[in-house]
Parts: sequence; C-alpha cells; structure tokens
Amino acid sequence: MHSKTVRYIRNLYKSNGTIHLHAPRFIGNEQKYMGNCIETAEVSAEGEYVPRFEAMVCDYSKAAHAVALNSAESALRVALALAGGWAGTEVLTQPLAYAGTANTISSVGAVPIFIDVERDTMGMDPSRLKEFLAYNAEMRDDGLCYNRNTQRRIAACVPVHTLGYPCRVDALKEVCDEHNIMLIEDASDAFGSLYRDKMAGRYGHVGFYAFEGHKSITCGDGGVLVTDDAELAEKARLLSDATRLSHPLDAPLEGGRLSCRMSNLNAAVGCAQMEHVQTLVERQRDLARRYKEFYEAMEDWEDELAFYTAKKKVCQPNCWLSALIFEETEERDAFVAATNAQNVQTRTLWPLANELPQFAQCQSTDVPNARWLQQHIAILPGGVRV
Ligand SMILES: *Cc1c(COP(=O)(O)O)cnc(C)c1O
Repeated sequence: MHSKTVRYIRNLYKSNGTIHLHAPRFIGNEQKYMGNCIETAEVSAEGEYVPRFEAMVCDYSKAAHAVALNSAESALRVALALAGGWAGTEVLTQPLAYAGTANTISSVGAVPIFIDVERDTMGMDPSRLKEFLAYNAEMRDDGLCYNRNTQRRIAACVPVHTLGYPCRVDALKEVCDEHNIMLIEDASDAFGSLYRDKMAGRYGHVGFYAFEGHKSITCGDGGVLVTDDAELAEKARLLSDATRLSHPLDAPLEGGRLSCRMSNLNAAVGCAQMEHVQTLVERQRDLARRYKEFYEAMEDWEDELAFYTAKKKVCQPNCWLSALIFEETEERDAFVAATNAQNVQTRTLWPLANELPQFAQCQSTDVPNARWLQQHIAILPGGVRV
C-alpha cells in the first residue's frame, strides 16, 4: 500500500523528484505584475495591487471588507486587538491546530483555553464549547464574559478550519453570541471552502485567510482579514498601518500599533493568483476526488483505511490537503515513514497544542477527539498539478 501510494502520486504529478506536501503554482501574470511594481518603484505601501487584491478577495469571499496584511499571524494579532483580546484576557481555541495560532494568542499576552474538536470536522466542537462556558464562565454587569476560576475576561474564540475542512461555525457563532465573545475564524487553510451557503471565514465577526507559499493561493507571504463590519475594518487598518497612515501617532489604540500591512509586491503576486482562483481550487478538489477513488478501490485495505471526507450536505471544502484515517497508529506511522523515505511528502497532524510545554498551565477540556485524530491521520500531498 505504501509503494502503491508512491507510484500513484508520482504518476499523478508526473514526477520522479521530490513531491512536496504543497507547492505553489504560477500559471498567470505573477512575473508581469511584479515587474510592474519594480518599474514604478511601488514595492511597498504605494501602488495599485493592494487595493485590487483586497477587492478580489471581497469579490470571491463575498466579504464587505478585506484588509491585506503581511501574514495570517498578523491578521490574528489584529483580530485579537479588535476583540480586546490583549494582555490579561483569555481566548478560546482548539488543541488540534498549527501551534502558530495558540502562540500568537499568547504572544499578545492573552491566555489560550483549549476546547476539544469534533472528529468529523477537525474543528472546535460547539457542544463542548457550550458546556465549558456553562461550567466556567459568567456574564457580569459590564455585559462581558469572565472566567469564574481566573476572573479574567474571555474576549475571543478562535476555531480553526483544519486543512480547509469547515468547522461548525454557525453553531459556534450562536454560543459566542450568547456570551458576547468575539468569534474570530482561523480560515488560514480554507480560502474557497464553503460551509452551507457561505465561505468559511465569513461566519465570525472577523475571519482571516493565509496566503503564504503553501496555501491554495499565495502572495509569497500574506494574510487577509475579512469582516462585514465597516468599523472593525477601519480599526484594523489603523492598527496595522503604524508607519503609513496620516493618523495621530499618539492616539492610543487598544492592542498597540503594528506595522504589518501587505506590500504592493506581495499583493501583485496575489492578484495574479486570484485571476485563476477558481481553476486552482477546482484542481485541488479534483485531486481529492482521485485520491478518494484510489483508496476506496484498494480492497485489501478496506477495513483499515478510510479517506477523510467532510460532512457532505453542508460542506464543500477547498481540498487544500487530503487526509487518510488509519485504524492503527503504527500503520499510520509506517505509511508516513515509507512515503517520505521515497521523497513523497506526507505527514501527521501537529502535536496537540494543549500539551506543548508553553501551554501546560492553560485550562483545557479533555481532548479525546483531538488525540484520536492526531494518532490516526496522515496527510497526503495536495499541491495543484500543472
Ligand atoms: C499556514 C497556516 C498559517 C500560516 O500563517 P502565516 O502567519 O501566514 O505564516 C496559520 N495558521 C494555520 C492554521 C495555517 O495552516
């Protein structure tokens, strides 16, 4: 099954070289637009591409406002500042996620709280969130939500659309609204993923997408914060544009002031990529369909293996990366080792964030589902084939 996989993937990508977990594809005007930036010397704040890229993201995601920043991490920092989720507050997030999410929360002085995920979405479990808040939180006279154990304000909730599979954001939103907690969707991986009739990232008060080199669409590096709230968008621009806007620099802004706007050069690449967004996302989906057929036809593995699929009725994931579920962890580990030994990059999910040493003291629900997924899943190469 390991060598069959390697052969199948090499054949798909028509390559005997290293097959990367996800490699960027440039099929359009990237060079031309970057050349324009150089010619006009508009490589940084000035230039046409940042507003154009923001407009393209709005158009595709149907968000009213988009603010282009230099990374997804910056987008989360700005979003936390919008929520007042700064020093001395607490922020709900999930144990199964790239550690950057929880690290960013603690880098602004907030304390993460970990809520387990659902097995069938890999995203935060709304019923566990509701239960956690029922036992640990209280609403105070100021209308805000506080942790009864620590007396700290719970300012925000940051679920993650893992690998591009949408989590149950509508249910999460309902719980957050009941507690006056800002919902910030980490849709880093989910640009183009639909949940019900809207794109993932569009249910929260704020959402953000990542555009670094391994994502479905890339700017080289970048992140975009989206919201329908004009006031939040305006505040996000002020927060992120420390050195550029003509805004009184001594005016206090909650969360301080960052310098993390996207450059015109990065946006130029993003614009060229966005011209092909439908094609690139459809090709990812096509790859996932092929994987599914391939593994479902592998009879000798029928009982031991499943292809991870999103809840069909409500989700249409962008299929950024596909995943296999192994019955036995040893089999999973053997698969990851064997494929990597043959230069086909596969991997496991991240170590659970609540178990990282820097978060050992943080509050957490028990995490049976996150642990199960961490032990059973292998991720397959997901880069778009040319
Ligand atoms: C890729 C990824 C990021 C990347 O963020 P950058 O800060 O733009 O490098 C963040 N969060 C998740 C969940 C990711 O998969």
